[in-house]
Amino acid sequence: MIGRKTFPRGGVHPYERKSLSEHKRIWNAAVPSECIVPLQQHIGKPAEAQVGPGDEVREGRLIGKASGFVSASVHSPIPGVVRELREVYLANGLATTAVVIDLQGEFDRLGKQQMAAEWRDRDVKSLLTSIRKNGVVGMGGATFPTHVKYTLPQGKTCDWMILNGVECEPYLTADHRLMLEMTDQVIEGLEIAARILDVEHVAIGIEENKPDVIEEIRSRVKERRLDFRVVILETKYPQGGEKQLIKAITDREVPSGGLPIDVGCMVSNAGTLNAVYEAVVFDKPLMERVVSVTGGAVREPGNLKARIGTTFGELIEECGGLAEIPQKVVAGGPMTGFAVYDLDMPLIKGTSGILALTAREVNEAPRTPCINCGRCIAACPMGLQPTALFKYIDHEEYEPARALGLSDCIECGACSYVCPAHIPLVQGMRIGKRIARKKG
Ligand code: SF4
Ligand code: SF4
Repeated sequence: MIGRKTFPRGGVHPYERKSLSEHKRIWNAAVPSECIVPLQQHIGKPAEAQVGPGDEVREGRLIGKASGFVSASVHSPIPGVVRELREVYLANGLATTAVVIDLQGEFDRLGKQQMAAEWRDRDVKSLLTSIRKNGVVGMGGATFPTHVKYTLPQGKTCDWMILNGVECEPYLTADHRLMLEMTDQVIEGLEIAARILDVEHVAIGIEENKPDVIEEIRSRVKERRLDFRVVILETKYPQGGEKQLIKAITDREVPSGGLPIDVGCMVSNAGTLNAVYEAVVFDKPLMERVVSVTGGAVREPGNLKARIGTTFGELIEECGGLAEIPQKVVAGGPMTGFAVYDLDMPLIKGTSGILALTAREVNEAPRTPCINCGRCIAACPMGLQPTALFKYIDHEEYEPARALGLSDCIECGACSYVCPAHIPLVQGMRIGKRIARKKG
């Protein structure tokens, strides 16, 4: 057991609001009568449709096949008949084709006993195949295909596998509940990842604001006689950023433009490791996830296990509906999530939260000129100068922005959070990074 740790630079302490849902047990959302299942729910190439209108599908059938090295397969969350393939917009503004399925017929898995398969005598290749075949991606929002992430590039080795149990975004409690209620599954998912990567050290990083999780994980790790370190982390945003977490736990610094694997580390969150466990032990495709549906405008905030393709509106209804008209609905957390304007948008693999926020919670104010207070610089965990970067981006001067480290921005939103002038700094960084990338 190592003491309370954190990252050294910047960081903020946003109002948490986790109490709205952190003590609510996960419950199963009603199965929707239709599922809207996008073929692009991950970073990389979209999956290729394997079905067309009129096709019958079983629960868990492959409906979109991974179409390149960085891609992930997509499966039917319900049994039914494909009504159509149509274009939908995701919360991040991306347009993609979705398979729309009308519920019909028998479930193959739901309500049925599943047989656990032994994995310890299987080789690494076959474990990776199970993860790839079942469409597992990073479920904290990054959505990078997990089988690609766990396949080490030539010449690289990994000696640390880290469970990111931080969930530092305000409001979100899905991983908190998962670690508390499905502790063994998450830990076994971590064992599988550690075995694939053949690591020397395994660590579980948890913020100190989750004492119940710390206790439960410690006790299960001890009972299972695992040599896993439970690391208590200071409650500070963005403690769950991969680079910040690695620094806090291993004291290694991921280089500018680099990846965790460049310093021998791999990080996955609880939702992803639970999906890894289910893919390997039950050969179960990633077709449902736990999502926090919360915010002051939701009547009964909570954590739901819901089928991919269920609409945001249905999930909010499941939580008693709206108590008032929200000022803003956000997919993901309030710091890094995306505002959405259509409650018919479907839940996807990377949706960790659906927040319906009141005007008081959003606390919007008009933008005023920068007063050069330097708060954004003090808050930035990457040691950047958000104010200068924003000015360059505002003037479409991408080269100097790049020279000042724009690509190192992790889009955490800490700068926007502290800015007294309400300058949309993180939105500027996002757009600036996208354009700078396009310009090569
Ligand atoms: S969004 Fe980027 S610039 Fe702003 S605090 Fe985070 S890392 Fe720094
Ligand atoms: S926090 Fe806002 S007002 Fe202060 S220096 Fe940064 S951009 Fe300017």
